[in-house]
Amino acid sequence: MSFKHKKKFGQNFLTNQDEVLNKIIEVSNVNKSDSILEIGPGEGALTGYLLDIVNDVTCVEIDSDLEKILLRKYGDRENFKLIMQDILKIDFDKEINKKVKVVANIPYYITSPIINKLIENKKYVDEIYIMVQKEVAERICSKSGKERSVLTLSVEYFGEAEYLFTIPKEYFTPIPKVDSAFMSIKLYNDNRYLNKVDEKTFFKFVKATFSNKRKNIVNNLKTLGYSREIIEKNLEKLSLSKNLRAENLSIDNFIDLITLFKNGEANV
Ligand code: SAM
Repeated sequence: MSFKHKKKFGQNFLTNQDEVLNKIIEVSNVNKSDSILEIGPGEGALTGYLLDIVNDVTCVEIDSDLEKILLRKYGDRENFKLIMQDILKIDFDKEINKKVKVVANIPYYITSPIINKLIENKKYVDEIYIMVQKEVAERICSKSGKERSVLTLSVEYFGEAEYLFTIPKEYFTPIPKVDSAFMSIKLYNDNRYLNKVDEKTFFKFVKATFSNKRKNIVNNLKTLGYSREIIEKNLEKLSLSKNLRAENLSIDNFIDLITLFKNGEANV
C-alpha cells in the first residue's frame, strides 16, 4: 500500500535520506536522556533515528492515514509515544507535561504558529531544532540587514536562533518548490528581555518601528504619538543615528530604546 502525500498538510518527506537525517541528529545534540517532541513524523524517517538514540520520543501527527504506518513501524518500541492531533491544539500541560527538546521537519504552512505555540509553552521547551523553508530560516536568523523583520525580533525576544544548514528541495518526496534549512532556537530560561520590557510594550514598539520598512525609525515611531524631538533625543542617548531603519537595530538596541521611552512616558 503506497501513501498518498497531502499538500494541505505540507507533506514533503525525507524518505531514504540517511545523509540529511544523520546531520540532523548530529547538530541537534541529541542525548540518550533527552525527551524529544517530534512534530509531524510523517512516515517516520526521522523518528527511527531518534528512537535508536533517546529514551523517550513523543510524536504529534495530524494525518490519521499515517497512524497505522507509524504504529506498524514503531508501535512495539517502548520509547515511542504517538499523539494523533493537531500540534496547534495540543494542551502541553495535559499531554506533554515534561521538559522536551523539539526535533522536527515541521509542516511549513504553519511555521510561525508552531514557533509561537512552542514559545508559549517554553516552560516545557528549551531547545528547538526544526526544518523550515530556507527563506524563513534566513529571516529568523538574520543578525543585520534587510531580512530582519518583526518575525526575527519576535524570536530574538525569547531565544537565540541559529541557521544550521541548507537542504536542497531535491532531497524531499514529493519535491517541493522551495529549498529548506535546518535551524535552532535556544529559548532563554532567564527571561532576559521579558524582565526588562513586557511583551505588549515590546511588540507595540517593534511593530511600529517596522510599520513602513522604507521609513527611518524616527518617522515610524512618530506613529506612536512621540514627538520628533523626543525620539531623536532618545536615539542620541544611545548613540544611534536618526537615519537608521528598523532593520539596523539589534534586539539590545530595541530593549534600550523602549526602556528610555518607558522611563520618559510623561514626555510624550
Ligand atoms: N518528518 C517527516 C519527514 O521528514 O519525512 C514528515 C515531514 S512533513 C514536512 C510534515 C508532517 O507534519 C506531515 O507528516 C504532516 O502530516 C504533519 N502535519 C501537518 N500539519 C500538522 C499539524 N497541524 N499537527 C501535527 N502534524 C501536522
